[in-house]
Amino acid sequence: VPPRQTLEADLTWTGTRFDSGIQVEIDTAGRIDAVGRLGRSEVRRLRGRALLPGFVNAHSHAFQRGLRGRGERYPNGSGSFWTWRASMYELVGNLDRDGLYRLSRQAFEEMRAAGITAVGEFHYLHHPRGAADFSLDEAVVEAAAAADIRLVLIEVLYRTGGVRRALDPAQRRFASAGVEQFWHHVDRFGPALDPQRATLAVAAHSLRALGPDELVALHREAARRELPFHMHVEEQVGEIEEVRSAWGAEPMELVLDRLEVDGRFTAIHCTHTRREPLQRFTAAGGRVCLCPLTEASLGDGVPDLPALRQLGAVPCLGTDSNTRIAMTEEMRWLSYAQRLQYQRRGLLRDDDGTVARGLLAAATTAGAAALGLPAGKIATGHHADLVAVDLGHPSLSDCPAEILLPALVFGGRDEVVAETAVGGRWREHR
Ligand SMILES: [Zn+2]
Repeated sequence: VPPRQTLEADLTWTGTRFDSGIQVEIDTAGRIDAVGRLGRSEVRRLRGRALLPGFVNAHSHAFQRGLRGRGERYPNGSGSFWTWRASMYELVGNLDRDGLYRLSRQAFEEMRAAGITAVGEFHYLHHPRGAADFSLDEAVVEAAAAADIRLVLIEVLYRTGGVRRALDPAQRRFASAGVEQFWHHVDRFGPALDPQRATLAVAAHSLRALGPDELVALHREAARRELPFHMHVEEQVGEIEEVRSAWGAEPMELVLDRLEVDGRFTAIHCTHTRREPLQRFTAAGGRVCLCPLTEASLGDGVPDLPALRQLGAVPCLGTDSNTRIAMTEEMRWLSYAQRLQYQRRGLLRDDDGTVARGLLAAATTAGAAALGLPAGKIATGHHADLVAVDLGHPSLSDCPAEILLPALVFGGRDEVVAETAVGGRWREHR
């Protein structure tokens, strides 16, 4: 249990700007219970620091940390998402419970050092080799607890090895026997989580990994339980073509036609989603999660972000393959990919004309909403999940409060993250 504490940093992000003189009071449950000019005298002064909400990583596959530096040789000519996937399956084939724990812990520790205080772990590697139990789920929960990062364990249903295709051997470790067996596992496993540190969400891997009828059944039950629901959608043109020829509609169209989309549905990637269905999805309240570094690394493509912005929507961000774990870099690449694509700057500006604020929202409030967490904001009732940035770091020198946010987003080094708190439990990083 963290002690009751009152913090005062030199500057505190209040939602629209950095302010001085702001005190943040945290209760023993690790929640913020007051923010403002509170006039408390017993205060922990965070000198030379700016306080921000902790970053929320809405989409991660922690074990893929094991691929870092691998899969960048192309002996057979140029590669693609699909050749990358073959090396990912090779890694999966060699992973046991200890290996999964080790890689997950490594990834989660790196995340926390990068200012990420909550992670949505899109978890499909459920079974040890040759077994059908879900004991690998425990390794992920233990790794998150050891790194003391807030975990939303997104339990993934995986059924087929491609559209109407049998599972290949690597994929058997992802698969469930059916929707019912999957919920049976969730019911057994969910209550074992410590709600102060870990909560549940549910996902369909993609329409490559299950058919529309099972998607409907899974989503209906998730909605009844009011759980966040995630799915990979239209990352690859190949996926769209296969789904269209098997089921007569594109993945996003199937989602819109068959499901009651609302704010609990988050579609991951939407790289090749056409504007009309993307805007219908967004208008229904659906959320989009982008993973700019992974999408660049895999050569996926650039999503139609102006379509979301037209409707006032902000995507959330994920470190996905964890080839690099840096939330400021995800933020800047969210913007840079659009600049390169459209040869224009400022495409993602908010009503005030600033870009950095929207990028911070993507890395905080939007992620928290996608994961169903009261987080991502320094506000009463929210988790005390915080980042303290070192204002004395050379990469932020000569950057007064008015331009600190764009300086941090576009030019801040990873080392600016000095300390983080999860539920009021602090860690020093450097
Ligand atoms: Zn993913």
